[in-house]
Amino acid sequence: MSKPIQGTCLCGRVQYRVTGPFDVFHLCHCSQCRRSTGTAHAANIFTTEDRLEWLAGEDLVKRYIPDREGVISKAFCTHCGSLVPYTSLKSGRLIIPAGSLSEPPGIEPDDNIFWRDRADWYDAGLAAEHVEQFPDD
Ligand SMILES: [Zn+2]
Ligand SMILES: [Zn+2]
Repeated sequence: MSKPIQGTCLCGRVQYRVTGPFDVFHLCHCSQCRRSTGTAHAANIFTTEDRLEWLAGEDLVKRYIPDREGVISKAFCTHCGSLVPYTSLKSGRLIIPAGSLSEPPGIEPDDNIFWRDRADWYDAGLAAEHVEQFPDD
């Protein structure tokens, strides 16, 4: 077991702690993950359910259960909408949205999955200018 790592949603009401080491880290470019996150790809770390401990706001966590077969699920803070960890209905594994972690997870992405499904603008985005803050114009 490694040192516990904390994570939180944007508003700070939901807080959790996870303990690694973690199994695998996927960047998922599938269309469902793009739509679910509203961005280019999901960044999900996989582990087992027993590694998670809620520290605050567990009652604010809403679990989205899809009403159709083959649709991914998710969990989020009902106050700010940020994704938070949840257990996959399909695999039973704990999925941690890496962006919600407050410290480095000690694991790097293993792969970019569903690469062919990536956003049309993703490659151009990687090549675009890197700027340190929101531009003035
Ligand atoms: Zn929140
Ligand atoms: Zn996906």
